[in-house]
Parts: sequence; C-alpha cells; structure tokens
Amino acid sequence: MKRFAVLCVVLSSFLSFAQRLPELARPVNYKLTFTPDFKKNFFAGQETISIRVLKPTSEIVLNAVEIDFLNASITSMGVSQEAKVTVHKDKQMATLAVAKALAAGPATIKIQFTGLLNDQLRGFYLGKDEQGRKYAVTQFEATDARRAFPSFDEPAYKATFDITVIADKRHVALSNAKILSDKPGPDEGKHTVKFTTSAKMSSYLVAIAVGEFEAVEGESDGIPIRVWGTPGKKQLGGFALESAKFFMHYYNQYFGIKYPFEKLDVIGLPDFAAGAMENTGLITFREALLLIDEKNASIPLKREVADVLSHEMAHMWFGDLVTMQWWDDIWLNEGFATWMSPKPVAAWKPEWHVELETVRDTITSQSVDSLQHTRPIQQAAETPAQIQELFDGIAYGKTAAVLRMLEAYIGSESFRAGVNQYLKQHAYGNATATDFWTTLAKVSGKPVDRVMPTFVRQAGVPFVAVHAECNGRSTQVTLRQQRYLFDRERFNREESKELWQVPVCLKEGGAAEAGKTCRLLTEREARVDLPGCGNWTLANAGAEGFYRSGYEAANVRAIAGDLEQGLTPAERIMLLGDVWASVRVGRKPVTDYLALAEGLQNETSRPVMSELLSQLEYIEHYLTSEQDQPQFAGWVRQLLAPSIRRLGFEPRPGESEEDKQLRSRVLQVAGGTGQDPEVLAWARKWTDRTLASDSPLDNTTADTAFSLAARDGDSTLYDRLVEKQRHAKTPEDFYVYLDALNSFTDPKLIERNLKRALSPEVRSQDAVSVIADIMNLPAGGAPAWDFMKSHWDEIAKIGDGFAGAGLVEAVSTFCSVEQGEQVREFFTTHKVESAERGLEQSLERIQNCADLKSQQGPRLAQWLSDHEVRIGQ
Ligand SMILES: [Zn+2]
Repeated sequence: MKRFAVLCVVLSSFLSFAQRLPELARPVNYKLTFTPDFKKNFFAGQETISIRVLKPTSEIVLNAVEIDFLNASITSMGVSQEAKVTVHKDKQMATLAVAKALAAGPATIKIQFTGLLNDQLRGFYLGKDEQGRKYAVTQFEATDARRAFPSFDEPAYKATFDITVIADKRHVALSNAKILSDKPGPDEGKHTVKFTTSAKMSSYLVAIAVGEFEAVEGESDGIPIRVWGTPGKKQLGGFALESAKFFMHYYNQYFGIKYPFEKLDVIGLPDFAAGAMENTGLITFREALLLIDEKNASIPLKREVADVLSHEMAHMWFGDLVTMQWWDDIWLNEGFATWMSPKPVAAWKPEWHVELETVRDTITSQSVDSLQHTRPIQQAAETPAQIQELFDGIAYGKTAAVLRMLEAYIGSESFRAGVNQYLKQHAYGNATATDFWTTLAKVSGKPVDRVMPTFVRQAGVPFVAVHAECNGRSTQVTLRQQRYLFDRERFNREESKELWQVPVCLKEGGAAEAGKTCRLLTEREARVDLPGCGNWTLANAGAEGFYRSGYEAANVRAIAGDLEQGLTPAERIMLLGDVWASVRVGRKPVTDYLALAEGLQNETSRPVMSELLSQLEYIEHYLTSEQDQPQFAGWVRQLLAPSIRRLGFEPRPGESEEDKQLRSRVLQVAGGTGQDPEVLAWARKWTDRTLASDSPLDNTTADTAFSLAARDGDSTLYDRLVEKQRHAKTPEDFYVYLDALNSFTDPKLIERNLKRALSPEVRSQDAVSVIADIMNLPAGGAPAWDFMKSHWDEIAKIGDGFAGAGLVEAVSTFCSVEQGEQVREFFTTHKVESAERGLEQSLERIQNCADLKSQQGPRLAQWLSDHEVRIGQ
C-alpha cells in the first residue's frame, strides 16, 4: 500500500480554458509584500514588478486568479500612468491598460491587491495542526502563483524576487531566500520580515510559509539546512536533517556545481496535497513523509522519506536552476529528479538496495505505457487542467527508466559530464528536450539525439521477441521489436508502426565466454551472434533497458532452472516482469508464471520477493474464482513456507533491515492471500498485545499485523484503532492506524469507514486514499463505488478536483465489463477535467483485466485442480 502515490503532484485549476501570455514584456524583478490575515482568511499584497517592455504597447497582460485589484499604475521613461485593469476570468489573466503607449525598454508596474487565504491546498492557503493552530503556506506548481500575486506565471518568465512578509509576532516567516531583516511593527503585535533578493527563478517556485514552526538545524558544505515542523514535532526532523546533509554533499560533487541557492529550509505540513514541492530553497512536504521517529519508523517509510527528499533536492539543479521552457517538457524536471533520487540514497544506505527498487519502478512504468491511452513523454499541454494531467507515471517513472537506460548505454561518467555541461549552459535559464540530448550526444559521441526522440516523442514500450539458435560454435539470436499493448488482440493481430532505437544487452547461461553483449537495435529485426552456445539467452542483461523481452517457453524453463546462479537480483525482477507481460497478452499461460515463482522459493532478496508477492496478490484478487481460492491459498502457503521458516514471526536480534521488512511482507501475503491460520492467529495476538501497550509502535510489523487482524475484525477492534489514531504519537502512527481501518471487511464497518472519510476526522487530502483503499478490497468495491456516487458533489469540491481525479484512477481496480460500463456512464455525466486521459486509462485497465480473467482464469483453475493432491495440506 502506498499512501501518497505521486510526488510533486499539484492540484487542479478549475478553468478549462487559458492561453499563454502575449509576448509584450518580460519581468526582471518582483518586490512583493504580503500581509496575511488568518482570521479573515485573506491577505493584502503590494507589488512592484520591474519589467522590460519588448515593443511599444499600451497594455500589459499578467496572470491573476481570485485577485482583487485595488489600484495599478505603470511607470515608463519617468512618467507614471494609472492603469485600467480588466480581468479575464476564463483566461486567468488581467490586462493593465494605459492611455499613453509605453516605449520599449524598462518600466515598472505597481499594484495593490488582496487575495484569498483559501482552504483548497493550492495558491496561498490556510492549514492547521492537530491543536488547531493555523498556518499559511503557498503551493504554486503548476499554475497557481497567479492566485497569490499578479504575475507572468509561465516557467520561461524567470525573475528575481524581493519578498517581505508582515506576520503576527508569534509566527515564523520563511521564504526562498535568507532573512535580510526582521523588525517589530508596523502595527502592535506584528513583525516585518524582509528576505534577501532571490536567485532568478520561475514564478511557480516562489514560496512563503507563515506560522508557529520549530526547526532542527545543521549544515553541509557550508550551506545552512533546517528541517521545520509545527510545535512539538521538531524532534522528528533529525532523520531528514541527516539525509539532507548527506545528499547536499553528494549533489555538490555529482553535479560539479555547488548548491546554487544560499540556504535550504525543508518544512513538514499537516495539510498538504502533494508528496512534496521543490520551491527554491524552501521545500514543502506532507509532514508524514518528512517528520519521523527514527527509532520506530518503518523501514519502507524511512526509504521513502530519503527518496522524496533526495528527489526534491535534485530539483534544486533540475527544475530550479535549469527549468523547462514550457510544461510539455516537464519530464526534464520530474523524470530527472526521479532518476537521480536513488543515487545519493544508495550511496548513503547501500543496505536498502534502492537500485533494485528502480527495476521494480521500471516495470510499473512499463505497465502504464502498455495502455493504448498512454502518452508520449513529451506532450503538448495548454490549459491548467491539461498541464496538471502531465504530472503522471510517464513524466516521473517512464522518464526515469529511459534515463537509466541511457546512462547505461553511454556510461555513467559520460552521462554525468553531459549533465554537467547542460546545467552549466542553461543555469538560471530555461531549456528544451533538444538542448538536453544535443549536449549528451556531443559529450558522449553516441547517437543520443537519435535514440532519445524514439522514446520521448513516441508513446509506448517496445517488446523485443528473442529467438536463439546454436549453430555449434556460436548462438545466433534474432531480435524483433514491436509495440507492446495489454490489448492482446491488437498486440497479436497487427504489427505496430512504431520503431525504437533500443540499446539491448544480451547474456547467455553456461556459455564458455559469459558476459554482456550490447548493441543498438534500430531495425525491426536484427541478428546478434553470441560466442559459444549457452543453455539460455537473457535479453535484458543488467535489467537496465526500457523494453519488455518476449521469451520462448523452453528458454524461460532453462532460465528458471538457473535463477540463483545465472541471474542477478535485478535480472530476476525484470524476468518476473517480462514473463508476466507475456501472460497478459496470452503468449504464455499464467501457470508458467507460477512455475517461475516455484523456482524462487528460496529467494532471500527482499525486492525480488516483493515483486513476486505483489503479483501473487493480483492473481488471487482477479484471476481466481471463489472455488479456486482455497486451492490457490494452499499453493501460496506452500510457496512461502521456506521463507517463513527462515524468517520466523518475530524480529531477531542483529537481523538486517531487509529481512525485517521481508518478514512483514511475507506474513502479509501468507495471511492475506494464503489465509494461513497460524499467521492470522499471530496477527491477532500481536495486535491485541500492541494496542494494550503504551510503548512506541513497531511500524514495520504494525502495518501487516493490523491489516490482517482487521480483515476479520469486529467493531471493538475498529473502535480501539480509532481511539489510538486520535492520540497517535507521530504522523506515521496516525497513518498506520488510518490504513488499518481501511482493511476491515465487515460491511457495517466498511460503511462506517466510508462516512468517516468525509468527516472532520480525516483531513481532506486523505479522504481520497481512504475511499480508494476500500474500493480496492474485494468486499469494498461495490460499497465504495455507491458511496462515491452518492457523495460526488462533496468529493468533487475537495482540492478543487484533486480528489475526483484520484478516484478516477482508483476505479481502475475494477475488473468486469459491467463495472466498466458503470464507470463510463458516471464519469461522462460527472466530468473531471484534469482526468480526461486518466478516465480513458482506467476504462482500458478494467477492460484488460476482464479480458485477462476470461483468458487465464480457466487455465489457473485447471492447474490448481491438477495440483490439488500436492498442495492439499
Ligand atoms: Zn518532482
């Protein structure tokens, strides 16, 4: 279960129509003074924008939404003129018109205005902590700076910012730059905080936070770093501070450009819609992803905290220092930060094996890209809703996977040198995709500028079919590429028109001269000769390629017999993904996958097992019928028995963090999918003992034990968990209890929990994940769907469409033609603007799942009944 699926996702903007600013002027500097009023939910603003007028004009157009203009004037060549303001609500713009035309050259715009401190988690908004203490904070990406100040709110209009905040005396004020002065006044009980001039940056990266915050402080390479939280949470910032210090030094070395901003503040906020946001010098976070109790936090959460922080810090170079010219190249930000983030984490905590998580992430992004309704990495977008929809699995995951392949293809040093040159060339400016690959091609001497467009401008994932034949002394391998699609009829019927330039690496099992052989596959079909004759051929050696490999049955059987010796853990993960991909399109029976699973009975690598376990849960959830389930459960119990024997039920002194996590995951699947009575009894006992105690929660185990206990839990257990959640000691504990409540299967408790999602007990940012989690339970799909429909008006208002888009995605877990029809019907009349592509993707996934079930369900049933004797225990 992943609580916050996407990093840096931004909230929707409600207007469907907006266009780009006319090229009349460019901003040079903004002087901004904000006076927030927490009681009246508004703020007063004063703004002076120094601009360069590009050609004579009598009007200047700015972006503005829900801003009240009190007065505006423009000064040019020493003459000041009052400006008439016309607001264009549909375009999110305002025109400032003057009587006498402005000459080309410098000019100054002065505006006094007021705006709303809203509760929609975007723009300039109010949040509050558990004690009801309010704070005000900004979230601007992609198009919401215009809600806080009239601006040239497009990424290419970079400028410097001089920000001043007038706040209550007890409130801290933070912004992108360091504090220049902090003086009492102007009114009694207030102080005025002036910040130094910021670096040149895009408007979506401006940030302000005002409230009662506390920090832990440190530094790295001379850069001050502070980790902030609301009162009482400061001690939970230590882990993030230590990570940030390590990452700062790592990035300074890697990029060869010292951190370009003078300080780094990182703040955890109770009300925050995205995972985190990379505002220049002031990173904002959902607090549960930043502030943790290091001693008791679960290891997956620690990994996630480190990963998100590393991602956001990478943005300081990728995104903040060098920014994409327009949103169509958002992948230059998000893909890079996602690709980069495991590097410093792996250097800091090699024992976490984040490099293997990236292989799993590659498979996940291949899955999105196997839909007909996927999109190319580079994608035109004009309206705020279209721009918002670009923050998806393609911009993040696929791009990261493609960059990983590219790095392997040209070599990591060459890649780093190219990145360094690209950043230096465009520092404090903007860049495009072409700028990037032209530089990398030049530095590496390899045809990066031919390889990359095939992956960036063309949607979909290549499928490379492998046929190997021994001619006595060497192996002739034929590779044939086509686009992979989950839609098996289409995939098997027609040859796709797409052609990629794929860096492919092969290796052989048991051959005399084992080793990787790599080449660039540019044609539809190509032959590669490998020296000697091995007993199998692997087509994605190193597991770094962004393609799916199609193996013949005999080849898979041979590899399966040599998994431990012949393949690295990364290659085992990729093989699992590849074989499953062939099952999805009917090229292999699901039972081949289960046979492969049996070959992994003694697997000890946590990421390899995790990949397998997730797939087994999927098979149980979607491909087994009620009659098959006991047999499948029996098979799962038998499969997992060696792991349980090795790991036991309770943590052992001195064991690795990987084993501790693996135990938790294995028990979860043995108890859930395997219905293992011994595991279920353990979970109930562990839960009882833990809920009765006041000791800190062991969160690595709690997630598993609570969710298993809740499956058959009654209202007494539900009430106890609610009570614990109310008094949770850390943000993580809070969410562990919240997740446990989503696992109950008793219909009355499901009903109760759905109602609770929209009550004040659950923050609006979490409502959607509660409903989605319940929807994902076999027993929860129908009630959650009915609940969603009958409360749609309320849900649609949350975050101005944010929750609605989340639920469009959540319904993708349905798996029948009828459900697909209901989904289409409902969302056709209840449109979610920022989820148009999302809806098509969900409908396609439902259709694919229903097809897979009809195709593979009977085969699975037959196989299970053939194996009954063996697994009946
Ligand atoms: Zn990001």
